[in-house]
Amino acid sequence: TLSDRLSAAFSSLRGKGRLSEADIEATVTEIRRALLDADVALPVVRSFTATVRERASSAEVSRALNPSQQIVKIVNEELTQILGGSARELRFAKRPPTVILLAGLQGAGKTTLAGKLGHWLRSEGHTPLLVAADLQRPNAVQQLQIVGENAGVPVWAPEPGNGTGDPVAVARTGVAHAKDRYYDVVVVDTAGRLGVDAEMMRQAADIRDAVSPDEILFVVDAMIGQDAVTTANAFAEGVGFTGVVLSKLDGDARGGAALSVAQVTGAPVLFASTGEKVTDFERFHPDRMASRILDMGDVLTLIEQAERAFDADQAEEMANKIAGDGDFTLADFLTQMQQMKQLGSMKKMLGMLPGMGQIREQLENFDEREVDRVEAIVRSMTPAERENPKILNGSRRSRIARGSGTTVTEINQLLDRFDQAKTMMRSMARNGGRGMPGGVPG
Ligand code: GDP
Ligand code: MG
Repeated sequence: TLSDRLSAAFSSLRGKGRLSEADIEATVTEIRRALLDADVALPVVRSFTATVRERASSAEVSRALNPSQQIVKIVNEELTQILGGSARELRFAKRPPTVILLAGLQGAGKTTLAGKLGHWLRSEGHTPLLVAADLQRPNAVQQLQIVGENAGVPVWAPEPGNGTGDPVAVARTGVAHAKDRYYDVVVVDTAGRLGVDAEMMRQAADIRDAVSPDEILFVVDAMIGQDAVTTANAFAEGVGFTGVVLSKLDGDARGGAALSVAQVTGAPVLFASTGEKVTDFERFHPDRMASRILDMGDVLTLIEQAERAFDADQAEEMANKIAGDGDFTLADFLTQMQQMKQLGSMKKMLGMLPGMGQIREQLENFDEREVDRVEAIVRSMTPAERENPKILNGSRRSRIARGSGTTVTEINQLLDRFDQAKTMMRSMARNGGRGMPGGVPG
């Protein structure tokens, strides 16, 4: 799969301190191959890899992330960007009813989506009506009626008197009915063909002209592959659409179609359909889809948090100190622990991130209350004691214990741990690390 390929590409970067031109080229080649294998359209692949290459070479040096993490971050950001940046909301009409027209090939998942949309709209406090304007296939109307029943949403179907045989009339009378009965959203299901077809396009365009939809959603099967772009372009030209819905995302498809359609048509993906049940439906989140494509969601979350928790300047200052005269003080120790407290919430995920072994071990034994205790103890010390803990004799220690509400034993333990940390920081500095969690090279 694409994610396997990308993981492989990234893993070859682990353990490198810096990205060379050759590293970047090798990774970009791998990403390119992987995207093509995932059926992402060639022009999309080209522009994508060009952007990633450019960003990787322009060396946005991050002190919080090692090189492989940096590339993951760039790829993720670019994927998210292509998929529309942030999630877009469905647009509702100022004066109800809001009309949503569904368009797409036969089997794309329109009728199924009508039920899901209806169900979701109802849960959001709307009163939707489904309209059966697919009169092409023999059982299409009945299918929508069953779907509506499962979703608990009424269906407007052709009957003598409201447009038998004429999908445009059914759509028009359906919207009129909704106005009459105060349904506030109308979802119009339409016919599709197996391939793009002039008559079908004309019918969809006629329905569009009859009901003036607020949204036209192009429903596309995520497993359709390279054809997605051709189909999307045909619909964009023949009917036009304001948004995309990706169906069958529960399958193996990693979403190459999604990338291509969104990029080529510039229309945002609004929803994702993920199964046959009425509840298998969600708002589309570009960032989550990018994670899905990368299949590295947890790692990405971790990278974000590491960046946030990590104050690069602070860390550099500390690294300099250690590299210099080894002047790692108790105050520095406290700062380090406070940073670890921030990292503590993601203890579980640390196992997944390359190069985090060292810090993970520390976190295993890390007690967040410990930070407060250390803080109290360090605050009860004089500046001279903080600078040079060697002067802490027995009477100083009991004074500090009294002042901080701790015991001499706890102070002894703290000083032992401080010595260990100091040793560890020195060895990390010698290994060329930047001395802090996020900067540990993989
Ligand atoms: P339409 O021709 O565009 O109306 O497509 P349908 O809604 O009839 O769906 C075609 C087939 O795909 C049906 O068997 C659906 O049950 C199935 N289907 C639709 N959406 C999904 C989905 O998100 N996941 C899965 N697994 N199947 C789906
Ligand atoms: Mg249908």
